[in-house]
Amino acid sequence: MLALPAFADNYIWMFHDGVEAAVVDPGDCAPVLDALDRLGLRLGAILVTHHHQDHVGGLLGLRARFDVPIYAPALESMPVVSTPLKGGDAVIAVGLRFEVIDVSGHTRGHIAYFHGERQRGQAPLLFCGDTLFSAGCGRLFEGTPQQMHHSLQLLAGLPGDTRVCCAHEYTLSNLKFARAVEPQSAALVAYTDWCQEQRAAGLPTLPARIDTESAVNPFMRCTEPAVIDAAGSTAVTAKIRWLYSRPFGNGKTTFNDASAIHPHSAPWARLHAEPVGVVGGLWLRHAHGRTAKRIFHPGDRRPADGTGRQRQH
Ligand SMILES: [Zn+2]
Repeated sequence: MLALPAFADNYIWMFHDGVEAAVVDPGDCAPVLDALDRLGLRLGAILVTHHHQDHVGGLLGLRARFDVPIYAPALESMPVVSTPLKGGDAVIAVGLRFEVIDVSGHTRGHIAYFHGERQRGQAPLLFCGDTLFSAGCGRLFEGTPQQMHHSLQLLAGLPGDTRVCCAHEYTLSNLKFARAVEPQSAALVAYTDWCQEQRAAGLPTLPARIDTESAVNPFMRCTEPAVIDAAGSTAVTAKIRWLYSRPFGNGKTTFNDASAIHPHSAPWARLHAEPVGVVGGLWLRHAHGRTAKRIFHPGDRRPADGTGRQRQH
């Protein structure tokens, strides 16, 4: 499996069997075509999680070259003819069967793809687009806090060793916010160290793991007393207010590295401002040693850090 860098901080995930490949959320066709050529693969299928341009921008270019099925959420419009999917459906891509999970919140019809069968010792696989990021979650463009919370609960219930393939490299930025929420967390310190080493080596921090997220991601830890307490703390609410005060202008919010805080904290704040009741289950698990083999092709260049760029997702 490959994480193909695109734009400032997107990853286009590609998986293959040595002959045929599938890609997830090709916002740009160039990195996909380059990887197919480089590895001598043919494209077999395209999976799309939601309609944002940085996830669908390459569809027309790929469709022009390959007559392959394009799977996409039924509730969202796509720039090309696609096979509509909703939660409970299943698709097969490159021989792998994926269950479709409805994960609305970031957008109205956002879906995720989950492959749960363990073949040759491989951990389960999740493509979750802009719903779950490592140590964070997607902004609420179209959905409600309740929807996002429900979606994250669904993902938290997946096996702990599930490889979580998010669409953006936001981890270090997210961790700044997570550490403001839970400054005492040893799991956050250890995970931050590991992620910094990865980035320093030019490697992605992804795929993440569900059990790690359950230990470090404040949006997955809404029933933890420390997280609930932090939601009322002056420091955290001040930062959240600051986030809300960012200009929206054309509907997009701009961010930069000086923000030191994560844009995706907004839904988290609202989750607590609008009580969602006691949600069942605590998914806190110990952050296991991250032994999963990192999946990144050595030929892939290091993604840019996006400093000063508009961050829309
Ligand atoms: Zn998006």
